[in-house]
Amino acid sequence: MTGKLTIIGLGPGAPELVTPAAASALAEATDIVGYGPYVDRVPFREGQRRHSSDNREELNRSRHALQMTSQGRKVAVVSSGDAGVFAMAAAIFEAVDLGDRAWRDLEIEVVPGVSAMFAVASAVGAPLGHDFCAISLSNNLKPWSVILDRLHAAAKADFVISLYNAASKTRPDHLAQAFDVFRKYRTGDTPVIFASAVSHPDQKIDVVSLKDADPSRADMRTLVMIGSSMTSIISRPEKASWVYTPRFRKMDLA
Ligand code: SAH
Repeated sequence: MTGKLTIIGLGPGAPELVTPAAASALAEATDIVGYGPYVDRVPFREGQRRHSSDNREELNRSRHALQMTSQGRKVAVVSSGDAGVFAMAAAIFEAVDLGDRAWRDLEIEVVPGVSAMFAVASAVGAPLGHDFCAISLSNNLKPWSVILDRLHAAAKADFVISLYNAASKTRPDHLAQAFDVFRKYRTGDTPVIFASAVSHPDQKIDVVSLKDADPSRADMRTLVMIGSSMTSIISRPEKASWVYTPRFRKMDLA
């Protein structure tokens, strides 16, 4: 049997946000590999083997998936959101790059998913309507000084910025430091979106201004989005505000 490795993004949480391509790739797999909570989101199928591992095990997990593929298994490696965004797809290709030359002949397919920033953006309007970037605040795989340099550069360039891994127990003050960087370049009324567990039943989204942004609002299931100088809030009586970033400056249209 010829093996195949499929790297699949499961979307932010809701079953409707798993793409049809991801669902059929999951149904074809003999083995599901990934971080435990993500493997648990895959619908059960008789005879399918499940290999759950710890979150920090990315390279070992990738090697294991590649070995099983070499043995002829149909392996699905799962991530939340999009598998190419701070997730397993890059770990698999790194393992191929550094590993057994024979792995380069394997069939490997990456199936895209709905990344958290797109789910968050749609939930509040259109904050990613103009140039934007994404930065992970996790310093497991890169030094904090590099992250700070990138925050400065992105803030200075006036991107809308999505902060992934915005908070963790091991580094409680990093988000506070990030807000301090943005306050150097952006006005206090810049919109900040705290979006937790988006598309899950316990979804919680708050739109605040940069001057009031409280870092303790974020947890490990939160994405924090900081607006650019153009990002605007449309407030509505008794309804959640909309947030959008215009594609043209308002004054150009006036
Ligand atoms: N590959 C994933 C990101 C993995 S990094 C993707 O494309 O979305 C994990 C971080 O993603 C979390 O710490 C959080 O910042 C963000 N995240 C993932 N799912 C989320 C959700 N449903 N709601 C809000 N943020 C989420």
